[in-house]
Amino acid sequence: FWNYFTNKIKSEITPTSYSTWVESAKPLYISGNDIHISVQSNLHKEYWQRNYVKNIAIDSYEFNGVELNPIIENEEEQQEQQNLNIAYDSSTENADRSDKNTPVFQNSHLNPKYTFESFIIGGANKMAHAAAVAAAGEPGQIYNPLFIYGGVGLGKTHLMQAIGHEMLKNNPNARVKYVTSETFANDFINSIQTRTQEEFREEYRNVDLLLIDDIQFFAEKEGTQEEFFHTFNKLHENNKQIVLTSDRLPNEIPKLQNRLVSRFKWGLSVDITAPDLETRIAILRNKAKAENLEIPDDTLSYIAQQVNTNVRELEGALLRVQAYSAMKNTDINKSLAADALKALKLSKAKNGLTVSSIQNRVAKYYHVSIADLKGKKRVKTIVLPRQIAMYLSRELTDRSLPQIGMEFGGKDHTTVMHSCDKIAELAIKNDDVKQAIGELRDELKN
Ligand code: ADP
Ligand code: MG
Repeated sequence: FWNYFTNKIKSEITPTSYSTWVESAKPLYISGNDIHISVQSNLHKEYWQRNYVKNIAIDSYEFNGVELNPIIENEEEQQEQQNLNIAYDSSTENADRSDKNTPVFQNSHLNPKYTFESFIIGGANKMAHAAAVAAAGEPGQIYNPLFIYGGVGLGKTHLMQAIGHEMLKNNPNARVKYVTSETFANDFINSIQTRTQEEFREEYRNVDLLLIDDIQFFAEKEGTQEEFFHTFNKLHENNKQIVLTSDRLPNEIPKLQNRLVSRFKWGLSVDITAPDLETRIAILRNKAKAENLEIPDDTLSYIAQQVNTNVRELEGALLRVQAYSAMKNTDINKSLAADALKALKLSKAKNGLTVSSIQNRVAKYYHVSIADLKGKKRVKTIVLPRQIAMYLSRELTDRSLPQIGMEFGGKDHTTVMHSCDKIAELAIKNDDVKQAIGELRDELKN
């Protein structure tokens, strides 16, 4: 099936795209109807999810009547997910360290790219960054736990791992452990099955810094939450730094036990929202430099304007432009970027309307700021315009609920859904709202 499938793709896309995106993917195994496929990076994973997930189901059915459900796994992530026990290698203890600033670590799976140095600071992540720097400087002393939350691709994992790097820089003996919540859960379950709970506890309770990524996946996992509760207490008692990330606030995580929610509030919760244009340009510039790409400023700014949802997509757009220029064998400029991104139809809607153009219009109409539309203020004069902007985004663009939520400062899709329902109701009952929506809709359509 794999050969059949990849050959089919090969005939449909350019050789460069094929070699960039498809060639390196490996089928791992089939379990039940799930086919596990390993790809090189997160960008690849997204590309696969965007382009081939449906095809695999259809083509496998065509091939032998079985509809396979693809599970795309990212090699990098799998490595990162493996337990990270960065231990100081004692064999160097007696060696002359004066010429050796970098200590030797075992199993260092922190992504070396995710440092404070490579993290671009902007309005949307300033607070989170400052808190992370503070926590890294005086671990366990200031914000414990530090809870970073926000939508996908906004830099939570990056910032969290930067704390790990920084702590190791300050103290090479520090024991830093980074895991995703799934790894924590899997380790815990394995330890029960193999009767190695002692080792499990030993491993998680004797660290100086525990980083647990995407804690929202603890929902529903009762036993894991119980175990984590004790891990948390032990570390906290000993003033060991704990950093957690999630896509939402603790009290919004379904089925998260109250005692955990209340403990998470002991420290500081900070959010990261979608970066503004200036920050996006700065991120692209930095990235281009790191990749040794020559890209004129107007082109960087063009790309940054096309992608306003999250940083991961922004990086994906840059990669796409890069691949496109390699394929065409020409320098990167604005028109090449436009061609490269056209196919993605990024952030462009049916009628050319984007969420941000709708936000602009609505903000002007109601004399409120864009920041307030994207923000969290609950006053009526802002809530109504915000909900109307969401409603119109839903109606006039082809963005999904989560995507719209993302463009409103990383709000949950249920918030968007609720807003749309609310406005739909008001549009019938309330004449002012009805008139406002009518006027805004007309203005936007023209
Ligand atoms: P999240 O964990 O919130 O989903 P990540 O931390 O994985 O997001 O970030 C996605 C990508 O965007 C990573 O490659 C990361 O390095 C990059 N990134 C995010 N925010 C920034 C930033 N402020 N500066 C530089 N790179 C960033
Ligand atoms: Mg992450």
